[in-house]
Amino acid sequence: MHLLPKFDFYEPDSMAEACKVLAETKTEGKIIAGGTDIMVNMKKGLLSPKYLVSLAKIPGVSSIEPITGGIVIGPNLIVAKLIEFDLMRKKFNLLSKAASVLGSPLIRNRATIGGNIVTARPAADLPPPLMAMGARVVLMRKGKERELPLDDFFVGPGQTKIKPTEILVKIIVDDPPPFTGWDYVKLMHRNALEIAIVAVAVRITLDSPDGIIKDARVILSAVAAKAIHAVSAEKILIGEKPTAKLFARAASLASTDCTPITDIRGGAEYRCAMVETLTNRALSAALLQIKSK
Ligand SMILES: Cc1cc2nc3c(=O)[nH]c(=O)nc-3n(C[C@H](O)[C@H](O)[C@H](O)COP(=O)(O)OP(=O)(O)OC[C@H]3O[C@@H](n4cnc5c(N)ncnc54)[C@H](O)[C@@H]3O)c2cc1C
Repeated sequence: MHLLPKFDFYEPDSMAEACKVLAETKTEGKIIAGGTDIMVNMKKGLLSPKYLVSLAKIPGVSSIEPITGGIVIGPNLIVAKLIEFDLMRKKFNLLSKAASVLGSPLIRNRATIGGNIVTARPAADLPPPLMAMGARVVLMRKGKERELPLDDFFVGPGQTKIKPTEILVKIIVDDPPPFTGWDYVKLMHRNALEIAIVAVAVRITLDSPDGIIKDARVILSAVAAKAIHAVSAEKILIGEKPTAKLFARAASLASTDCTPITDIRGGAEYRCAMVETLTNRALSAALLQIKSK
């Protein structure tokens, strides 16, 4: 580990000012949120930004606001709040479940949702549930906003569509449609301070309580360069009655949709097998959730 490199620290009190500061620093400035990724990388000598810009003093960046048909989450909201807030636990509990297995209490009380998204680790915990929920991100540069589905945001490990002087300013999540169930399952070697060996987020929506599957999203994590949709699994689920046989078939297809690597945490073959097991488990839990409402 190195000593932390020298940097200038800015803490603007408006998003317009933050955009201005970041634009002036050109590519030598970076946003810092909780610092649980960026500080580690700076200490390792992997990053040495000359300027760090914190959004912490900007009103609204750490809040969850209900809007018509959904919620808007500020990028600086700490992960622990995704578990604590009543609204999250009651209506968006998929995100709360994923938040509750991120890191440890210490990390969850510093790490932010925005940092977890922008850092773009292939095994990060919040992108899979957010993608399953169809979340969108709003990015700002020179005071102008653009909106992207989270599905289109990730490029590869550590790489996203965000431009160097752009800021993630909002995460928008729609309310779940009626007859929707979901689940997030994370396979780890131990129960805390562990990134996923494999993780799966699923969301299914039926057309009526005993009806067919109207919409299905199956997101696989830690088994490709970024979180991905298991497209073939999603395809066979839609339009069908949810049964154990259908879920087994979808889970088996999901394992053909991934392209994992072998590393210290697990072999590629093992990861594919675990995708099948976890997908099946998550689909069954999602259906049970719909039936028990
Ligand atoms: C011990 C330990 C355990 C961990 N365990 C897990 C785990 O189980 N699961 C998991 O997913 N992660 C884990 N992490 C990784 C990390 O904690 C998370 O990715 C965290 O959510 C990052 O958020 P942060 O606020 O700390 O980001 P920061 O470190 O502040 O920033 C991360 C990156 O995002 C950029 N950024 C942040 N906010 C914005 C914004 N609004 N606009 C533009 N760019 C922005 C920064 O410039 C930086 O490049 C762990 C980390 C540690 C140290």
